[in-house]
Amino acid sequence: MIENKNPHKTSLSDIGEFALIDHLTQSFSLENNSSLLGIGDDAAMIQHGKNPTLISTDLSIEGIHFDLTYMPLKHLGYKTVMVNLSDLYAMNVHPQQITVSIAVSNRFVLEAIEEIYQGIALACKNYKVDLIGGDTTSSKTGLILSISVMGSAPKKKIVLRKGAKENDLLVVSGDLGGAYAGLQILEREKAVFEVNPNSQPDLSTYSYSIERQLKPEARKDVIDLLDQLNITPTSMIDISDGLSSETLHLSKASKVGFHLFEEKIPIDPEVSLICEELKISPVTAALNGGEDYELLFTIDQKDFDKIKNHPFLSVIGHACESKKGCQLISRLGQQIELTAQGWQAFSR
Ligand code: ADP
Ligand code: MG
Repeated sequence: MIENKNPHKTSLSDIGEFALIDHLTQSFSLENNSSLLGIGDDAAMIQHGKNPTLISTDLSIEGIHFDLTYMPLKHLGYKTVMVNLSDLYAMNVHPQQITVSIAVSNRFVLEAIEEIYQGIALACKNYKVDLIGGDTTSSKTGLILSISVMGSAPKKKIVLRKGAKENDLLVVSGDLGGAYAGLQILEREKAVFEVNPNSQPDLSTYSYSIERQLKPEARKDVIDLLDQLNITPTSMIDISDGLSSETLHLSKASKVGFHLFEEKIPIDPEVSLICEELKISPVTAALNGGEDYELLFTIDQKDFDKIKNHPFLSVIGHACESKKGCQLISRLGQQIELTAQGWQAFSR
């Protein structure tokens, strides 16, 4: 039994997800030479043969990470795989295998589980990944899905959160805030539906954002593009929790600060319209919304010409001295310190 030396009880909502992980894992050290990189990046790295193998795992729980009222089961299977593949792309590595573990209650019929697996199968096909195992068990009520992903690459290709240097450019793929905007629309329609089950909402004007929430794509194409352009990012992370939180992760791991320009943050016009409708700032959706699964990375300034004007890569800032911290420079030139909102895993 684990002895609780501290009689004081700390609520999980007080410490937050990232501090909890740090706290639980700080006393673990790596004892095996084959464990090249442990906790703290998008994936772990082990080496048994010639090239290192990257491994990452994620857990998805009904009612916490997804709501089956508006998440079709096939999309759930697809998205859960994407979330995992994204962590390997964030290391500049192509995922090759996944394992899928699932806990289901008897509330689900076989056909429902088959739908989840159709989504998983489509993801495997589209991204050329093999399903090689997993575990199946029962749960009292909800659905739990856990996926692990593996892939391997030569060590010199692998990109960590650590490695950004002062003056490196901060680049993001695609656009941000869409998954959050889509979620707000789905939540709103769910509330309407609960009051009036006969309502038939027309969601076609929100289709991009809803798709970003329900059917995200991991950015394999970005990894391929960087390879073609002969660019190895100096550091990289995927955007699961929001631009703010991920910038702070790169900052902490690389020991640099960042200047991030509000006007450079890529936001789709539909997302801006939704934010206007919901009276939230689109920049807040990009900074704190999360689930966009875009890649955020730093490159050496000498590589700027290779990516400038690229349709889906935006330079949004640069690395600076660590003591300057991470600052958002607003359109009016004010500096606003970025805060780690992250995904508020334990807040009520
Ligand atoms: P991401 O949002 O990219 O999935 P996380 O914040 O979940 O990343 O995890 C950050 C790091 O902490 C990773 O290295 C992950 O393997 C590790 N980690 C997360 N939860 C635990 C845990 N309960 N025990 C050990 N390591 C963990
Ligand atoms: Mg990650």
